[in-house]
Amino acid sequence: MTISVAIIGTGPAGFYTADALIKKGVDCTIDLIDRLPTPYGLIRFGVAPDHQTTKKVSRTFEKTALSEHCHFFGNVEVGRDVSLVELREMYDAVVLAVGAGHDRLVGIPGEDKKGVIGSATFVGWYNAHPDLRNLDPDLSSGNVVVIGNGNVAIDIARVLVKTREEMADSDLPEYATAAIETSPITDVYMLGRRGPIEAKFTNVELREMGELKNAVPLVDPAQLPDEVGDLDNPRDQRLREKNLATLKEFTKFKAADAPKHVHFGFYANPVEILGGDRVEGLRLEKTKVDGGRAVGTGEFFEIACGLVIPAVGYRSLPVADVPFDDKNFVVVHDDGRVGPGLYAVGWIKRGPSGVISTNRPDGATAATHIAEDCGEGRKPGRTALGPHLAERGVRVVTFGDWKKIESAEIAAAPGAAPRRKFETLTEMLDVLGN
Ligand code: NAP
Repeated sequence: MTISVAIIGTGPAGFYTADALIKKGVDCTIDLIDRLPTPYGLIRFGVAPDHQTTKKVSRTFEKTALSEHCHFFGNVEVGRDVSLVELREMYDAVVLAVGAGHDRLVGIPGEDKKGVIGSATFVGWYNAHPDLRNLDPDLSSGNVVVIGNGNVAIDIARVLVKTREEMADSDLPEYATAAIETSPITDVYMLGRRGPIEAKFTNVELREMGELKNAVPLVDPAQLPDEVGDLDNPRDQRLREKNLATLKEFTKFKAADAPKHVHFGFYANPVEILGGDRVEGLRLEKTKVDGGRAVGTGEFFEIACGLVIPAVGYRSLPVADVPFDDKNFVVVHDDGRVGPGLYAVGWIKRGPSGVISTNRPDGATAATHIAEDCGEGRKPGRTALGPHLAERGVRVVTFGDWKKIESAEIAAAPGAAPRRKFETLTEMLDVLGN
């Protein structure tokens, strides 16, 4: 018999696992399960709509999906249509590749006010995630604060200040384009609790902020050190030197240069979100960095704003019937082994860090463990899952079905846009008829 493998989640970590199993020559069937009718997870709903080059990795994943080993089970929700316990009974190996698609909170008073929207939610909204189509964020104030100095913070700041024309070759949905275009937003404050050397932006993303049509980055030269100093890791050293050089270049920009501004603020730790029911501002404590940590100085200041977007990292939710580490928001595992025949890869294993290809070694490790643990395989896999879903009346979306949805999105693309994403499950399933 062949080893039957089910992978839950079809983002990068899921696809790299399937790819590693195939490349290792493991005699297996691989069922890729996603609760949405669309594959690719973070590639479709996390990567910024104007970073289409990054999204092209989905072409490689498509080749994997079309391999004779693989079958896509879209529109199948584990926990609703089939339980994890049932999947473990049906499959020799079940791989959790469910990512970290939820908001992490800063943990300060006022975070429950209207007008505080976590980065996972906001990014999902502008990427047409069907769960977030109706979010309707209030963009009615001129000032927005983005908390955090990572690539997600910079993505959000950029999307908020780019023009419709600059977004023409992106797949930003029309509802988000219109909401941003008609909003009075002029100033986005992107705040780090530590300094410019500690910021986590990668340099290409940082430099993009200096090349916008209608907006300029504003940096206070007094916040920039002369040099990075000596770091242990040469790669880190180079990145931080490049970032410091880019930030120094940005000091040439003045507010009068453009109607919109992205303020880079450092040494600012958020302590309270101000206002009544709704956000009216953010209170911060000035910090200094001591031994790599932000230490409060006892000096406070406020920024008036109507929207606060904490972009302080994502988090995973616990998976039913699986031990969960509540401190680090990951499943409990030993090098990716969660339990007999159960494995974890990607952000549910490691937490939300790294770039897309960082998930590749997770897939390789899981494939090695599966080959070692599962012998020749003894469980039925898809021949059990198919009838189970049919009995429950689930409309399974196959990879062929997804290609029809994709073709309809491409055919509907306006102008230079690569696609017009469907915004609801109903629209997607309607393309497939009955
Ligand atoms: P991230 O890189 O971990 O950045 C999180 C930021 O939030 C850091 O500046 C962090 O500051 C700050 N932060 C955390 N807790 C905070 C708190 N309580 N108060 C104030 N600030 C706080 O996370 P991310 O931006 O969500 O990105 C996730 C991963 O996806 C990263 O590996 C990122 O590089 C990757 N990504 C890549 C791209 C790209 O390549 N274009 C695009 C998007 C995302 P400290 O450093 O002080 O903790």
